[in-house]
Amino acid sequence: MTNVSSTSRTSGTTVRAAVWREPRSTLSIEDVWLADPAPGEVGVRVAATAICGSDLAYVDGHWESPSPAVLGHEAAGMVDRIGPGVTDLSVGDRVVVTLIRSCGSCRRCIAGTPVGCSGRFALDERGPLRDAYGSEIWQGLGVAAFAEAVTVHRSQVVRVGPGIDLDVAALLSCGVLTGVGAVRNTARVIPGSFVVVLGAGGVGLNVVQGARLAGAAEVIAVDPDQRRLDAAIRLGASAAVAVGEDLLEEVRAVTTGEMADYVFVATAAVSAIETGLELLARMGTLVLVGMPPSGARVSLDPVTVASAGQRILGSKMGSAKPARDIPALIALYGEGRLELDGLITARYALSEIEEALGPARGGDALRNVIITDESLIA
Ligand SMILES: [Zn+2]
Ligand SMILES: [Zn+2]
Repeated sequence: MTNVSSTSRTSGTTVRAAVWREPRSTLSIEDVWLADPAPGEVGVRVAATAICGSDLAYVDGHWESPSPAVLGHEAAGMVDRIGPGVTDLSVGDRVVVTLIRSCGSCRRCIAGTPVGCSGRFALDERGPLRDAYGSEIWQGLGVAAFAEAVTVHRSQVVRVGPGIDLDVAALLSCGVLTGVGAVRNTARVIPGSFVVVLGAGGVGLNVVQGARLAGAAEVIAVDPDQRRLDAAIRLGASAAVAVGEDLLEEVRAVTTGEMADYVFVATAAVSAIETGLELLARMGTLVLVGMPPSGARVSLDPVTVASAGQRILGSKMGSAKPARDIPALIALYGEGRLELDGLITARYALSEIEEALGPARGGDALRNVIITDESLIA
């Protein structure tokens, strides 16, 4: 399966971007060269980009990646350049930009799971970013949105209507899509279920929202940070448990001894996966959402998993179909059933990105958002 067309990428523009050079180094704001869209691609002027835990995992060296890089993948903006062959978008369209690149014709895409796309893309062969000497800068997670503009594959953008500001819409492209999608698409939680969510960060809080929307009878949020637990209760959790309390006992009490039908692991802490298995009911489902550091391993008792009929599912990007799920999430937001505004802790300019990253690391911020072009937000 190939979407690769040979492209020399000779035409482009200069944009300001936050460039990352090595683990634990600070990001520097530099002029970089951004290629114009090749066939099947579009250019988007970035309005806002939220800082996701995955960005921090790269910046802090927990995940390996090429460098230098421009990170940032939770973005929204306005289409400003259109590559040959793209006929269903116009310059000026407001869009959410995701990291989900899909060809539409491989086995996974045909099966309706674009997050598993095995297609190959010109952007995979050669990214659109260059430094002043012409050397390639990695397009972080296929987006590179800590910048004034991005060049991405057509499949990575979803048009949005006027009913949502773009700084809020940016949250839909990763954290919300992943959290709500883990519940609705991956696990397909049924009404009346007992749900435990381990980790109440940017994704976990949206698992809480998804579980509430799915009609779960109980949603128990677990986190070391009291502010995040307060947020979980605000977003619909029926109980909040601080790490360190007797979790097994709490879950047993809330579920009247049944234990959890679903446990979502929405933290990078490896130990949470083993904890999650201990909390599962017979026939229960453990859903792995968080991404531990590269090389992590867990141990489990296969006899218990098999004899109790339990399932362990990986949830990549909430098993999302962006073109279907993002409009559905916006509809829920419009009806007041999905909280988005309250997920944003603070807004920063691109030049202030280092200040924005700090609080995003701990529990000090739910989501910090970089506002790259204020004029495009509303
Ligand atoms: Zn993300
Ligand atoms: Zn595909």
